[in-house]
Amino acid sequence: MTDMHSEVDSQPEYRPETVAVRAGRADSGRALAPTIWASTTFTTSTVAEGRAMATSTDAARFYTRYGNPTVAAFESAVAELEGAESARAFASGMGAVTGVVLGLCSSGDHIVTQHQLYAGSQLLFQAVCPRFRIDVTFVDATDPDAWQAAVIPGRTTLVYAESPANPKLDLVDLARLGEIRGPVTVVDSTFATPLAQRPLDFGVDLVLHSATKAIGGHNDATLGVVAGSSELLDWIWGFAVLQGANASPHDAAAGLRGLRTLAVRLDRQSATAARLAEQLEADPRVSGVRYPGLASHPQHDLAQRQLRRFGGLLTFELPDLDAGARFVESTRIAQLATSLGGPETLVTHPASTTHVNLLPEELAAAGISPGTVRVSVGLEDPDDVIADVTAAIDLALPDGT
Ligand SMILES: *Cc1c(COP(=O)(O)O)cnc(C)c1O
Repeated sequence: MTDMHSEVDSQPEYRPETVAVRAGRADSGRALAPTIWASTTFTTSTVAEGRAMATSTDAARFYTRYGNPTVAAFESAVAELEGAESARAFASGMGAVTGVVLGLCSSGDHIVTQHQLYAGSQLLFQAVCPRFRIDVTFVDATDPDAWQAAVIPGRTTLVYAESPANPKLDLVDLARLGEIRGPVTVVDSTFATPLAQRPLDFGVDLVLHSATKAIGGHNDATLGVVAGSSELLDWIWGFAVLQGANASPHDAAAGLRGLRTLAVRLDRQSATAARLAEQLEADPRVSGVRYPGLASHPQHDLAQRQLRRFGGLLTFELPDLDAGARFVESTRIAQLATSLGGPETLVTHPASTTHVNLLPEELAAAGISPGTVRVSVGLEDPDDVIADVTAAIDLALPDGT
């Protein structure tokens, strides 16, 4: 039975799309748009107040490297959207990744992560962690049993996943990841955004984003964020204030602006990407179309269970290196640039650009073929985007029809 009074008295449960428009405004007074607090420092009236903020994650008015009201507003918005107690923003996605890894792990610890990773995270685990005597085991992200099996009781302190993952949109089973006890579990949820996936709902401890991508959404802010329990965020904060990769208030304001339009942008990009993926799948000149919303995605069932939107990213295969390179040079609307989630459709050809130094067998381990192409669908007219991609395939494969 519904109790009228408790319903009236309790805070209404807004849907995430509404929260995204309203969140992070507690500190803006009567201003409708978030205020940008550009100050590096704040006056304190008593020694006790200063001492409290020098030692607290709640230091939004002390010194901006520790905290800042605009940054705190962005952090509270992301925490609310992720269903987390707390969040910390960083100067970039890599700031957040490094803050979590080096904030939580010490010499002698062990980390479990996956083969399929963003290149910066991969380098951190492969090249930096060993320098600090932190051992790392890489598993196949898509094997739900591999994660728990790689955990060394008493030594593994962090289980670090990325889903959907670079470059081929492989998925990690978040419910299985959330069952792991002992180490802290974290998901890089950048490709999904808080409006398509909430890892904490599956029992995962921490979620992080490169807000440089879809959250910022306009290719004009470099920003990262991690959200989770206050206890874990306190630990991360203690390292982060020394790491110094704190978010700029200007970028935090851009992050808050991006959150307000994220739902409509994601819907548009998801719809265009789904149409483009279907069209490419029907094109005999193209193979291996990967999109979580396609029934042919090897983890489509899992995608339906844990993603509320399938997003604007897709990959497909052209026959060889030359065709891939010609394709990304032949699009006219889609531009050749590294990033994703913004208004402009972008294309990348990993084998000739970001992954050019990899040996063929290393490319294969990363799931990249010489002809792999990635598209981040933007906000242009869907027919124009699809026509542009199709025309570029014509040019990439002059005798392909
Ligand atoms: C871009 C990206 C990062 C790194 O973020 P920056 O803001 O460029 O530092 C981390 N993870 C994923 C999945 C990304 O796409």
